[in-house]
Amino acid sequence: MNRFKVTAIVLAAGQGKRMKSTVHKQYLLLKNKPVLYYSLKAFEDSQVDEIVLVVGKGEQEFCQKEIVDKYNFHKIKAIVEGGKERYHSVAYGIQAICWECKYVLIHDGARPFVDKEMIHRVVDAVQVSKACVVGMPVKDTIKISDEKGYVCDTPARSLVWQVQTPQAFDKSVIADAYNKLLLEEENLSAAGITVTDDAMVVEYFMKIPVKLIQGSYKNIKITTPEDLKIAKILLD
Ligand code: C5P
Repeated sequence: MNRFKVTAIVLAAGQGKRMKSTVHKQYLLLKNKPVLYYSLKAFEDSQVDEIVLVVGKGEQEFCQKEIVDKYNFHKIKAIVEGGKERYHSVAYGIQAICWECKYVLIHDGARPFVDKEMIHRVVDAVQVSKACVVGMPVKDTIKISDEKGYVCDTPARSLVWQVQTPQAFDKSVIADAYNKLLLEEENLSAAGITVTDDAMVVEYFMKIPVKLIQGSYKNIKITTPEDLKIAKILLD
């Protein structure tokens, strides 16, 4: 039992264009259950108190019936409509969080291999550092390219991580960061800055350190058809 309230925002409002499927990737089946089921189940079985589920336009009723009711999820306190970009969906999710919530976990619904131990690690860590991200050290050498496709840097591999979700934050930190982002949205896009994760919003606007926490190499995001094949193997 937590001494404080923890809310998870699970994002499932993406179009999944890279999947090239008419069914959105979060609803594709893995062992007869939708991809989204697995991430919701991990949060349902974890120490998280409440879940805010963010879904695509017009999908609220479908998700309530075909996912929340069907699989008996009790922690889902709100199903809200997402926005055009991932960060819009996060912002709508943050608006639906209850006032007593102290910590917020943000998770891609398309990452079915999150588990309650990983959630536990990140909840422990966020009480010490107000912003934490799960990830893993990279296995390959990473190159930074210039606009013409030539290598301009090779960072030390031991310091490079690939980040995943869940990402965990003190609620006031993430709420402030997202308020600032929405005010500066046009300036960022004019400067060619694309927001691809939540920690980035905190790094940019709050200037507080973000702690990296061990995730898992299994914690993949289902993005392309190959990922779905890999996920099926990982589930066996
Ligand atoms: O597009 P990407 O693979 O980065 O999406 C990561 C997660 O964010 C997915 O679970 C997707 O459903 C969600 N998302 C969202 N709203 C968007 C775009 C993505 O909730 N507008």
